Amino acid sequence: MRYEAVIGLEVHAQLLTESKVFCGCSTQFGAEPNTQVCPVCLGMPGVLPALNRRAVEFALRMARATNCRINHKSVFARKNYFYPDLPKGFQISQYDRPLAENGHIEIDIDGGARHIGITRIHMEEDAGKLLHGETREDEGYSFVDLNRTGVPLIEIVSEPDIRSAEEASAYLKGLRDILVYLEICDGNMEQGSFRCDANVSVRPEGETRLGTKAELKNMNSFKFIRDGLEYEIGRQIALLEEGGSVAQETRLFDPSRGITVSMRSKEEAHDYRYFPEPDLLPLQVEESWIEEIDGKLPELPRAKRERFVREYAIPAYDAGVLTASKALADLYEDSVRLHPNPKTVSNWVMGELLRLLKSDNRDVKDIAITPETLAELLNMVDSGKINTKTAKEVFEGMYVSGKAPGSIVEEKGLIQISDEDALSKTIEEILQANQESVEQYMAGKEKLFGFFVGQVMKATKGKANPRMVNMLLKERLSQ
Ligand code: ADP
Ligand code: ZN
Ligand code: MG
Repeated sequence: MRYEAVIGLEVHAQLLTESKVFCGCSTQFGAEPNTQVCPVCLGMPGVLPALNRRAVEFALRMARATNCRINHKSVFARKNYFYPDLPKGFQISQYDRPLAENGHIEIDIDGGARHIGITRIHMEEDAGKLLHGETREDEGYSFVDLNRTGVPLIEIVSEPDIRSAEEASAYLKGLRDILVYLEICDGNMEQGSFRCDANVSVRPEGETRLGTKAELKNMNSFKFIRDGLEYEIGRQIALLEEGGSVAQETRLFDPSRGITVSMRSKEEAHDYRYFPEPDLLPLQVEESWIEEIDGKLPELPRAKRERFVREYAIPAYDAGVLTASKALADLYEDSVRLHPNPKTVSNWVMGELLRLLKSDNRDVKDIAITPETLAELLNMVDSGKINTKTAKEVFEGMYVSGKAPGSIVEEKGLIQISDEDALSKTIEEILQANQESVEQYMAGKEKLFGFFVGQVMKATKGKANPRMVNMLLKERLSQ
């Protein structure tokens, strides 16, 4: 019998507001523990939460970018549980009346598109963080940092529409790209601002009912998600094939062993005793606000990718790389406007620029190269002022110093030598100095042509116009 996997993801994304969702404390990451707290986010008696409008706006943006219907009235609810990182003893979330429902995104997988439903998007607050002692004095102790308590989150719950670990990873990347394009989440998995619980079951192919699912908790890298799901799918299929059954439980992926282990069973599952938050009014969102959000949504990554292929006739691969971030895509498009040769610009951005960015781990937003300077450089190559090899050197100079290509070329004296007399003279000198090789060439050893070209380039410090060197050398050697 053949089996298929069924996967649904619950994704938490931290919203990039400056202050927390129910108080004015800063959300800045990395501050000294417990320096960004106040009576509200510490859950002191008698305090009242006040909803951050910006957090709602960000949640609405994501909801509309993923084609969700907005509930004009949604309700905050208390989710009760006891844990040391949760000072109030409950988390404010949304339960049976979430902010948004019934959305979807398209993902691309093996050349085909797949439609993944989004059940709901709701707002909630984050909990604090536990730090476990690692130095000798600390060992055995745990510490609580409440800076993260009350940071705004959205939870994005998918339909069980995902059919493989690969699709799960593509869906997650799709969600993260959208969040980052919307500038509402930094998508940083290591810092926990984008995290995922994965629900997975298996069933015989052709079966329409859902199998019993296991939930894999807190998968904090794309690799762990893939590996964890692959393992779990295999484990469940093996169980069924042995005639056993899958238990409904929460499991943890252990990356060091590459396996999932049981964390708690259905019986041990929390009963959160949800009830409406008495300190907050229901959240009402007017139609006019939704229209305003819709009007300001940027072009999303997938649409941009498709448009790049259509408009610039570049390969899908290039379009994917160039739209990886909005800043990179903007740099590309603005450069093409000034130097209308899309494939050449793509080669420079994907080749030289990304290589340099990778080598010093910088972001395209932090560099001094502009569409104007890049276009100026490429125009200099086109007009023969410098050759491609020199251009790469100039490009690196632009990247490091932020100077315009024209001034780098001038300062370093890099202008291409296209002067026929000057080049002929250099060629003459090279041939004089290598008479033996010239004789061998004349006797039929044609390979040596490349050697002569190399010598001329070397003598001109790489500045000779290679096309002219070829032409002049051929002429001279055929005499
Ligand atoms: P729970 O009540 O356990 O939280 P939900 O019905 O709220 O379960 O679903 C949580 C997530 O699990 C959703 O993303 C949903 O698509 C997914 N899911 C639900 N049932 C299954 C199943 N049988 N197999 C795989 N995923 C599932
Ligand atoms: Zn606070
Ligand atoms: Mg649920």
